[in-house]
Amino acid sequence: MKQLWSPWRSQYIESLSHDGVGADCFLCAAAQAPPEQDADNLVVHRGALCFAIMNRYPYNSGHLLVAPYRHVGDLAELAEHEAHALIETVQLAIRVLRRTHAPHGFNVGTNLGRTAGAGLPDHIHVHIVPRWNGDTNFMPILAEVKVISEFLSHEQRKLAEAFAHAIERSNRN
Ligand SMILES: [Zn+2]
Repeated sequence: MKQLWSPWRSQYIESLSHDGVGADCFLCAAAQAPPEQDADNLVVHRGALCFAIMNRYPYNSGHLLVAPYRHVGDLAELAEHEAHALIETVQLAIRVLRRTHAPHGFNVGTNLGRTAGAGLPDHIHVHIVPRWNGDTNFMPILAEVKVISEFLSHEQRKLAEAFAHAIERSNRN
C-alpha cells in the first residue's frame, strides 16, 4: 500500500525541525496552548491523556491526528494506560467522523521513524483518514490556500462540536 499520509507538501517538510522536540513540536505546542487557542490550532478534542487535532495538510476531509500529550516517539514506549487511552481516542474519533463525514471507510495508522514517512518522528500520532469511493481528487482541491484555511476552520468547529456531543452521550450512558 502507498503511504497515504506521507508529508507531500514541501512547506510541511520545511516547517519541521530535524529533531521535532519541545517548542518545535507542533503537537506539544498545540497541546500546551490554552484551550482558547484550540480553534486556531485545529484541536478538536482534549481527553485526559490524549488529544485529537486536525491535520493542517490533510489527505482528505476530516483527516485527524490522535496523539498522547506526552512527547514520546515510539508506540512501544507508551505506558499501558497511555496505549489504552490512545486507542480509545482513535475509536472515539472514528465514531465522531462517521457522524460528521459519513465516510465509506478509513485509513488508520502511524509512521514510526522518518524513514517510514513520519513527518514528526519524535511525537507519536495516529492518522485517521476518512475515505470515500472516488475520493482521489481531493488534493488538487486543497491546492488553493484561501480555500484551505476557510475549509479547515469550518471543519474544526464541526468536529469540536461533534466530539463534545459524543462525550456528553457517553457520560449519559
Ligand atoms: Zn511533542
